[in-house]
Amino acid sequence: LDPEEFRALGHQTVDLIADYFRDVESFPVLPDVKPGFLSALLEDNAPEDPVKWDKIISDLQTKILPGVTHWRSPSFFAYYPSGGGTASLLGEMVCSALGTIGFSWITSPSSTELEMIVLDWLARLLALPESFMSAGKGGGAIQGTASEALLTAMVAARQKAVLKLTSEGLTYAEAMSKLVAYGSDQTHMSMQKACMIAAIESSHFRPLRTDESTGFSLSPSILADAIASDLKNGKTPFFCCATVGTTSSAAIDPVAEISKITEEHGIWLHVDAAYAGPACICPEYRHFLNGIERANSFNINMHKWGLTDFDCSPFWVRERVHLLNALSLTPEYLKYKRPDGPQVFEYRDWQIPLGRRFRALKLWMVLSLHGASGLRAHFRKHIGYACKLKEIIEQDPRFEAGLSVRLHGVFGCARKMSNSKMTMSRKHNHIEGQMVSQCPESRNAPI
Ligand code: PLP
Repeated sequence: LDPEEFRALGHQTVDLIADYFRDVESFPVLPDVKPGFLSALLEDNAPEDPVKWDKIISDLQTKILPGVTHWRSPSFFAYYPSGGGTASLLGEMVCSALGTIGFSWITSPSSTELEMIVLDWLARLLALPESFMSAGKGGGAIQGTASEALLTAMVAARQKAVLKLTSEGLTYAEAMSKLVAYGSDQTHMSMQKACMIAAIESSHFRPLRTDESTGFSLSPSILADAIASDLKNGKTPFFCCATVGTTSSAAIDPVAEISKITEEHGIWLHVDAAYAGPACICPEYRHFLNGIERANSFNINMHKWGLTDFDCSPFWVRERVHLLNALSLTPEYLKYKRPDGPQVFEYRDWQIPLGRRFRALKLWMVLSLHGASGLRAHFRKHIGYACKLKEIIEQDPRFEAGLSVRLHGVFGCARKMSNSKMTMSRKHNHIEGQMVSQCPESRNAPI
């Protein structure tokens, strides 16, 4: 398409998207289609000749859209919200238009530098310690997902631990066979997957038992006992994942106490605050991150609750050297003459893939168009809904407020007591989807 053709079709597409945002509530959230429905509607082979725009739009509207699950619908309550919106989408449009692949500073200086800037902005809003900022020893990078952030942290931690053990005379294989990682039975499954990918022996992930007495949060004393027992058995504890807002039960692990234990033993502490973390830019919730100054890495998903479209998973480390030790490679074809000047990151060293999109643009757009005050108001509005829901649940004998509703309200869940169907009025439709789908019973097999 030449620029003028693009302009014409682009305007139509923007209109279509604006209509979608306006009408999304009227679509059934879950499509009524059977597997394979689409292949029965579309051609078997890619079109040999260009297809007319009208036919493409008609296929989109009559064949593809009917099979879409409407995550943007205010009536969508599954999993977690796809929290993006119009501001983020504007950033996405520019990102796609520019098409930069910012794996090195030189491949698009603004891509790298804007990412450093917006992650420093966010770090300040979250009151993260200076060490997590780009001028310190750490810094932030936008990962695609919390799962990638956790894996990246684990790979850095693994390298740190293995370097230490091999320097003490162990072979690489011996070192790897000793490594043990900790989480709770509520920790997201991405922890177990990270262990699988990072080749941590399958029995060496310890999903420690939680229960109602601690709001399903990881007990520091159980963690300390597990570490002591592993040390006694000649193992090397190397990684712990604490969660602020677990997926199944909205539990908040006590980062302050856990971080003292991990620091004492030289264990890498990763704090996964994927869905709840963004709300910690409100000073009244910042205390959930107390102790973060002793963590080694930290992650939130702006693409859940942070009004930013998937994918946008800000990830910070306290000491980037460990990431670089694990992931830095500069083959001949990536070398360039770096200009002198302030330190800027080579972001390919901060992640698993080489290529990366200009994701900072959408985050910059969200932070700029809403402002920190707008974002705080957004979280507080949802938290207000959650408190209202809690009130309604507590007044209705058919329901019982789940423990985490009682403890945390905002990050809480509603557990259905009877078979009566839970209904919510329209004004509660924007409540965090996770609240009504959580259930601590969906846990990792505990030890
Ligand atoms: N951690 C927590 C606490 C989550 O709630 C989720 C998703 O629900 C994840 C990690 C995984 O997120 P992602 O899809 O970004 O990997």
